Amino acid sequence: MTAPELGDLSPEVASAPDELDRARRRQANRRMAMRRFRRRSGWATLLRVIAAALVLGAIANEVYARHLENQLTEAVQRVTGRDDLSIHCRRIWDEIAEPRAVDGYVWWGDTTAHVGLPVCRHAVRWPDDPTDDDARVGLLVVIHEVAHLVGHVDESETECVAMWAAPDLGVALGGTRAEGRAAAAWYQTERNPLLFPEYHAPGCLASGRPPSSLLD
Ligand SMILES: [Zn+2]
Repeated sequence: MTAPELGDLSPEVASAPDELDRARRRQANRRMAMRRFRRRSGWATLLRVIAAALVLGAIANEVYARHLENQLTEAVQRVTGRDDLSIHCRRIWDEIAEPRAVDGYVWWGDTTAHVGLPVCRHAVRWPDDPTDDDARVGLLVVIHEVAHLVGHVDESETECVAMWAAPDLGVALGGTRAEGRAAAAWYQTERNPLLFPEYHAPGCLASGRPPSSLLD
C-alpha cells in the first residue's frame, strides 16, 4: 500500500483537521457563553436580592413608622382631649420630596403635626430612658408642635406651654410625672436657651404656672 498522493485525498479526509478546529472553537464559544450567562445571572440574582432587601426594609420601616405615629397620636389625643389631632412621622420620601431642617412643624389651621422620624422614635422611647437627652428633646418637640396645633402661635409662649405639658405627654406615653417634670426642667435650662431668641422662655417653669394650658 502506497501513501496516497495529495490529489487522491478525499474531501472528508482533507477537511478533518478544520472540522476538529471548528468543533473546538464552537465548544470554547459555548463555554465562554455559559460563563457570561452565569456571570450575568449572578448579577441578576444579586440585584434581585438587593431589591428584595430594599422592599422588605421599606415595609418594615413603614410598619415601624406607623406604630410610632399611633403611639404618639393616641398619647396626644389623650393629653389634649382632641381626637382630631394626629402626629405624622416624616418618612425618608418626605425628607426627599420636601427637605426640612427642623425637628417638627405644623401648617397653621391644620390638625396634624409633622415630626422627623428619629424624633418620633426618641419621644416614644422616652419612658424607657427618661434621662436620655435625645428622648427628652423628642418629648418636648412633640408637645411643642401639639401646642401649635391647639392654637399657640408665639414661639416663646409655645415653648413654655410645652414645658408645662411635657409631663402629661410623658405620662400618656407610659412614663412617670416626676420624670416628665425632670425632663421639662432639664429642657428649660439645657436646651431652650440654645434655640433662636424668639423661642427663649426664661423662667417659664420657675414662674409657677403655665401661660395657658393645652386645653385653653
Ligand atoms: Zn414652634
